[in-house]
Amino acid sequence: MARIVMKFGGTSVADMDRIRNVARHVKREVDAGHEVAVVVSAMSGKTNELVSWTRDASPMHDAREYDSVVASGEQVTSGLLAIALQHLGINARSWQGWQIPIRTDNAHGAARILEINGDEIVRRMGEGQVAVVAGFQGLGPDNRISTLGRGGSDTSAVAIAAAVKADRCDIYTDVDGVYTTDPRIEPKARRLKKIAFEEMLEMASLGAKVLQVRSVELAMVFKVRTFVRSSFEDPDAPGMGDLLNPPGTLICDEEEIVEQEVVTGIAYAKDEAQISLRRLADRPGVSAAIFGPLAENHINVDMIVQNISEDGSKTDMTFTVPSGDVEKALRVLSEHKERIGFDVIQSESGLVKVSVIGIGMRSHAGVAASAFRALAEKGINIKAITTSEIKISILIDGAYAELAVRTLHSCYGLDKS
Ligand code: ASP
Ligand code: MG
Repeated sequence: MARIVMKFGGTSVADMDRIRNVARHVKREVDAGHEVAVVVSAMSGKTNELVSWTRDASPMHDAREYDSVVASGEQVTSGLLAIALQHLGINARSWQGWQIPIRTDNAHGAARILEINGDEIVRRMGEGQVAVVAGFQGLGPDNRISTLGRGGSDTSAVAIAAAVKADRCDIYTDVDGVYTTDPRIEPKARRLKKIAFEEMLEMASLGAKVLQVRSVELAMVFKVRTFVRSSFEDPDAPGMGDLLNPPGTLICDEEEIVEQEVVTGIAYAKDEAQISLRRLADRPGVSAAIFGPLAENHINVDMIVQNISEDGSKTDMTFTVPSGDVEKALRVLSEHKERIGFDVIQSESGLVKVSVIGIGMRSHAGVAASAFRALAEKGINIKAITTSEIKISILIDGAYAELAVRTLHSCYGLDKS
């Protein structure tokens, strides 16, 4: 017997037929003798609709009332799934965030989970009851409903799995796992059997939009073995109930990955822009003078490259921001021109950041060199490079995005199984 948390996303509960299908997935695990808790999202499109209603009611609305409105989508699906499960003869009960309670901080609209008391759910699981928990929502210190930010029900699921000490947290979604790269760009992309938490964090924040980044952070801290798998497969197909090797991708501690490849995946982020400040004074405090005001204006800076100054007096600074923020960034920098003390600003939009990710590169030399050689052979010019222990990011012209992804994917042999 195992204890399993099963989470179903919006497309998996989009209508009653799909909710009935979800109920069959749950029944399979219950029938196998496992203790099960389920976390659900709102029906797909529902949260967007609710958000738009709050905007329509008033563009400057109170975040507490926003939460009270948008949390309702999950209330509906948790109740419907509990009914569908009861219809199949399963002892099921729905739970809203406040009933457990899932305690969060006071940041309405983007709250963080502080504490979950899993005792009651564990007790009822012991009696054979399935808890169907509304994802995305909790209870703030002001005793009002809070929500966790868009995509937050992934985080609800991982947090509940940690609280009840589940053996596994299965995230059922509309893709059947995590791939070596975006299969829409490279049809030879392969589904990974396993990926380390750290790698998944890089993949997720770089646009492999499978899980809310926060959920992966939480899974890493609490070592929650998290499976990404599809809800659209026949719930009773062979292997679906396999406890050790179900179909999907396991996100786990790196120690669980025995045959570690050097590179695990290629991610990309579109719509990047590059800003360069030319002939800055090379003195203490310049970086703070640049990035302080950008941060205050909530502009997310990513790659940062500073030149070594030739004569010890002037230098250049280049960094990237999302294309949508470039006008704002240029305005903020111009306003602070005197304090920063640069000569000219240059900017370029429509760039793409392609990243090579793998914890195996920690212990291998030459990983970056292979990427540069492969891109050079295709005539792709590199505008900036940054590296970390497990990632090499390369900024290039947007027109070459797909070619670069495919080139790197095959350069590390990811298209061969
Ligand atoms: N329903 C919420 C959203 O659409 C939470 C979630 O689905 O994870 O953002
Ligand atoms: Mg989601």
